[in-house]
Amino acid sequence: MKILVLNCGSSSVKYQIFDMQDERVLAKGLVERIGIPGSVLTHRPAGGDKLVREEEIADHKEAIRLCLEALTDPHYGVIKDYSEIGAVGHRIVHGGTFPHSVLVDASTKEAIGELEALAPLHNGAALRGIEACEAILPHTPQVTAFDTAFHQGMPDYAYTYSLPYELCQKHLIRRYGAHGTSHQYVALRAAALVGRPLEELKVITCHLGNGSSITAIKNARSYDTSMGFTPLAGLTMGSRCGDIDPAIVPFLMDKEGYTPAEMDQLMNRHSGVLGVSGVSSDFRDIEAAMAEGNDRARLAWDIFVHTAKKYIGAYVAILNGVDVLVFTAGLGENSVAAREAICQDMDYLGIGIDREKNQVRGREQEITSPGARVRTFVIPTNEELMIARDTLAIVQAQAR
Ligand code: ADP
Repeated sequence: MKILVLNCGSSSVKYQIFDMQDERVLAKGLVERIGIPGSVLTHRPAGGDKLVREEEIADHKEAIRLCLEALTDPHYGVIKDYSEIGAVGHRIVHGGTFPHSVLVDASTKEAIGELEALAPLHNGAALRGIEACEAILPHTPQVTAFDTAFHQGMPDYAYTYSLPYELCQKHLIRRYGAHGTSHQYVALRAAALVGRPLEELKVITCHLGNGSSITAIKNARSYDTSMGFTPLAGLTMGSRCGDIDPAIVPFLMDKEGYTPAEMDQLMNRHSGVLGVSGVSSDFRDIEAAMAEGNDRARLAWDIFVHTAKKYIGAYVAILNGVDVLVFTAGLGENSVAAREAICQDMDYLGIGIDREKNQVRGREQEITSPGARVRTFVIPTNEELMIARDTLAIVQAQAR
């Protein structure tokens, strides 16, 4: 079966089409600047020429129609007609309390719509994507995969905030976490690499990118994760502050006269390594500035490494040990220096990485040093494949 995976953002649509016989990507692409001047589609068939189409793209329906046109194009296409698409899998950022992927029906759409309050930019766009597919591919089943679903395995004491209970219930305030599909994918892959079922392993997965989160995994489910009610919590990130004393928020609003929206912007867009260094939110720029002796870049880097170490240590404690440690996403897959700094002086926990093996960028490799108890891996994430697998499983179960 061929499965189309869609990731609809507020002004973009990313897509990949898989042949699930061998999980091969047939083509992938991106529509950018939907509804704003300068819209463009970039389509890349595997092993073929790239297609770029620049034209006005008013909404998600038009964007998805263009993707489908590219997929069926006589020269750049990879399928003959739309009927070859067996199912569509949608990435949904906020799935509330959905514990796994589900088939789209009226109740799923209603639930995603209700969650728009928690993820206004993302869930609305995903809904528009689902409705566009219903209009263009009326006979093709659709599945939604939620970034939050994997974390629904957390126990109540890991997801409940110590605020007035009724207030949290009223406003659906709890830890939801994020990057769940990525954490699950790399954990499953790591289990395959060590040759044991994930159910038997204690795993800590570090998804380190522009947005970063670390997850403790037990019994093949998320046991705790560093992101919270929103993706602002946890580690210091590119431009997000991560964990801070919550009292700083009303203090700064009072002193500087910030509105809630301004405070939100400050913590999401002007903080993190960007805010501390004054250099950049991109870790490559931070590494370069550090090499030139920029002390604030050094400070930002050290804060990041320190918080990552703290989460790993905390998660070893709550898991009562760790068998496997995984690094993934932009920084986790590519930054030799970040992995080396985070894993330094962790021998008490049985963590140690090999300098030579750690020289890896963007590909799968075990980096464990000889004698270290914890198996450490670099594993490129593949959220789209995870979504395609879930979509296939649900559609096949439905057909039975
Ligand atoms: P997002 O959260 O936007 O999906 P990514 O997972 O793409 O982010 O990660 C982006 C981050 O990864 C950037 O901060 C970038 O600096 C970092 N990164 C990418 N490649 C490298 C590299 N070769 N060395 C160091 N950092 C890298």
